[in-house]
Amino acid sequence: MKEIPKGFRLNNKDYVVWHKNFGSGMKGYSQPATKEMWVADTDRQGNKYSKDERFQTFWHELTHCTIYEMNRKTLTGWRDEVWVAEFSELLNEAITTARF
Ligand SMILES: [Zn+2]
Repeated sequence: MKEIPKGFRLNNKDYVVWHKNFGSGMKGYSQPATKEMWVADTDRQGNKYSKDERFQTFWHELTHCTIYEMNRKTLTGWRDEVWVAEFSELLNEAITTARF
């Protein structure tokens, strides 16, 4: 992927990706109940996040949404930040270092 998508389909549902600059310094937010995701372009001082940082946020938020859609109580909750952070960082690493 070259850019963060405007939307995607997950579990046969259309999600929308919004860009928002959170005043709190938060990098992203997901609301899978309404099929929405927000990714921050800049930090609270207005400095633009690097493409790598924004992609990491996207994979992080996508992981939240994926767990929500899986609806499995035994794996982890979709709001489990520790699990989501570890999983999405590994996912991002594999995607960004993929060789073709
Ligand atoms: Zn999170």
